[in-house]
Amino acid sequence: MSRPQPQKLEGEDFLDLTLRPRSWDNFVGQDRTKQNVRIIIDAAKQRKEAPEHLLLYGNPGLGKTSMAHLIAQEIGADIRITSGPAIERAGDLAAILTNLTEGGILFIDECHRLNRVIEEFIYPAMEDFKLNLILGKGPMARTMELALPRFTLIGATTRLAAVSSPLRSRFGAVLGLNFYDIADIEKILARSAQILNIKAEPDGLAVIAKASRFTPRTANHLLKRVRDFAQVKANGIITKEIAKTALAELEIDEAGLTASDKRLMNALIDKFCGGPAGLQALAAAIAEEEDTILDVYEPYLMRLGFISRTPKGRVATPLAFSHLKK
Ligand code: ADP
Repeated sequence: MSRPQPQKLEGEDFLDLTLRPRSWDNFVGQDRTKQNVRIIIDAAKQRKEAPEHLLLYGNPGLGKTSMAHLIAQEIGADIRITSGPAIERAGDLAAILTNLTEGGILFIDECHRLNRVIEEFIYPAMEDFKLNLILGKGPMARTMELALPRFTLIGATTRLAAVSSPLRSRFGAVLGLNFYDIADIEKILARSAQILNIKAEPDGLAVIAKASRFTPRTANHLLKRVRDFAQVKANGIITKEIAKTALAELEIDEAGLTASDKRLMNALIDKFCGGPAGLQALAAAIAEEEDTILDVYEPYLMRLGFISRTPKGRVATPLAFSHLKK
């Protein structure tokens, strides 16, 4: 069963591809993680080996895939992209692994959703570059060992805690991507506007940056929506006023809260008297997937200081009460 992809909206694959940073200089922010990645790459280059397996974690749209592409580019390796839920059978994994080139990169998105049987096959592949396949069934079954090219696995996850510990321990490094600061999002927006040939005033971009959930993918998505608005309702130039009006039309408030965030906050405040409320109860109250709450709404609301997590459940903070004028 395929679950909804939080925060990847229609047309975004195209946007992601067009605006993906093509060099480290274009990969804005995340300095500590970039530095760690560089050390791992340089050390591997010096040893003339493939870099260690890397696990990248962070919310959707923060740059995990972009970073994997840059690593591949930097070491001149081929990169194959797949995701945890896409690898259903051992045969799928065997087909992917045996087709890798020597020194190539395998990027597995949503690593926390790999099925546990597949994980068992991945361990020897990661450790010894071997795949133990079982051929046949019952008493006639036999195992066959396949030698694999030396490869680097880059795993990505939005939920580090949900990656099994045996899998996690097989990565040489586990690196996190954080929410961006507004100045970095403004830089990303300025580059995107240039690439997409969008005329925008810095004040206009600043308004979009503030509503971007500190997330590059969301920022780029909003830029495109505001551009459409500017084109239809004004002279095509994104000014502060145009950006504000466009965001209001999109039901995004000045703190970047969407109608869905507000629905969640209002439920927590009105139906649960501000909390504590359990995730399941909250998800049922707003008819939303628990995963979407965990991956999309909650991290941002926590970062804004509107929700706090207690052992008894989620609680709305006084800041949330005052923002929502309760
Ligand atoms: P993730 O894999 O974490 O969901 P992506 O790497 O697909 O995120 O990033 C989504 C888009 O956001 C990219 O295509 C790119 O346009 C933009 N982006 C992400 N991180 C950065 C960054 N550090 N600098 C510039 N743009 C970025």
